[in-house]
Amino acid sequence: MEVAKDKVVSIDYTLTGDQGNVLDTSNGKPPLEYLHGSNNIIPGLESALEGKTQGDQVNVTIQPENGYGQHDPKLVQVVQRKAFQGAPTIAPGMQFQGNTPQGPRIITVTKVEGENITIDANHPLAGMTLNFDVKVVGVRDATAEELAHGHSHGAGGQHH
Ligand code: ZN
Repeated sequence: MEVAKDKVVSIDYTLTGDQGNVLDTSNGKPPLEYLHGSNNIIPGLESALEGKTQGDQVNVTIQPENGYGQHDPKLVQVVQRKAFQGAPTIAPGMQFQGNTPQGPRIITVTKVEGENITIDANHPLAGMTLNFDVKVVGVRDATAEELAHGHSHGAGGQHH
């Protein structure tokens, strides 16, 4: 069965950055399962997997415009420390979920200078060229429920 729209695809993957540093991997975890053609994964990876079958290996380099987008300087802000009421310590690298005009986003603390905290609502991989090393582990038809929801449900049916 080929990877195509409305198939549920399982992949093992390792994602490395420009310097060969590993940014993310399914190594040691169950394969990533996603619904193809529903924007569950970045466009560059989805198009690289189109037409592949179980056992295929794919190596693909994805530019930011087909990945997590360019880094948008407007999403970087300096806020006052008092905005973080309840957080014990604020340090660079901390991430939290916040609401932005673009909807809920993961926000990363990038700099702490006294009362001034710099936060960045860009995706942590925005602006980066991404190298994916992927193996297709499985391809199956999506269930009617998965198609209705627009995502795969996995073995346990959770994933919401
Ligand atoms: Zn669902």
